[in-house]
Amino acid sequence: MIDTHSHIYLEEFDADRNDVVNRAVAAGLRHLVLPNVDLETWPQMLATHQAYPAYTSMAMGLHPTSVNAEFRQQLEQTRELLDSHKFVAVGEVGIDLYWDTTFRNEQMEAFDVQLHWAEERGLPVIIHNRDALAEITEVFANYSGTLPRCVFHSFGGTRDDVDSIRRFGDFYFGINGVVTFKNSRLSETLAHIGLDRILLETDCPYLTPVPYRGKRNESSYVPYIAAKIADTLGVSIDEVSRTTDRNALDLFRINI
Ligand SMILES: [Zn+2]
Repeated sequence: MIDTHSHIYLEEFDADRNDVVNRAVAAGLRHLVLPNVDLETWPQMLATHQAYPAYTSMAMGLHPTSVNAEFRQQLEQTRELLDSHKFVAVGEVGIDLYWDTTFRNEQMEAFDVQLHWAEERGLPVIIHNRDALAEITEVFANYSGTLPRCVFHSFGGTRDDVDSIRRFGDFYFGINGVVTFKNSRLSETLAHIGLDRILLETDCPYLTPVPYRGKRNESSYVPYIAAKIADTLGVSIDEVSRTTDRNALDLFRINI
């Protein structure tokens, strides 16, 4: 199993990061993808990657909730970093209108710019979408170029959402602890996505799966998500593990 969205570099893990990594290894996690948030999180992400260089890969991007009036300057620095280290994806990037719609237009521009970075470098994109699927597909529709390969991380949408995304490409969908929540609409969506387009992720420290919901999330909890997907699709956990590993290695071009 591979955690394709892990923020173990954040301060929530400062006290016990090594234990967290050891538990992930013991739980059968083969690799962790670390997506950046913004310029402030970058030094911690790099330090964590350097502590576990073979076990982690990094993605570079400016998160939509970090887009503000100074976003063009932030983007310039983010692009310089993107070209200064090895990254397996551009991310996480996208549009988030749940907390704040003030910078809606700026978020759309930043998303478009970062999609072009990925296209130019042949990298996939880790997309964060919250209450903004219409805006994201609007950016896709106006995109000048060939869209890169994308994963809709922390996907919690409907079959119709999947269909409207697929009009733009054969994208992947990152499934996390939300799938274990009682009110999740995902169970009927999973079959529509199909195992060959699902990636496993935690989004830790957030979105902790049942039975640990309410506590800090960590990468070692991925098996609970895999088990729920296996149960929903009527396949073995082993098949979920093998197929989603192949999906992740293929999308991010990771050699392990
Ligand atoms: Zn994230």
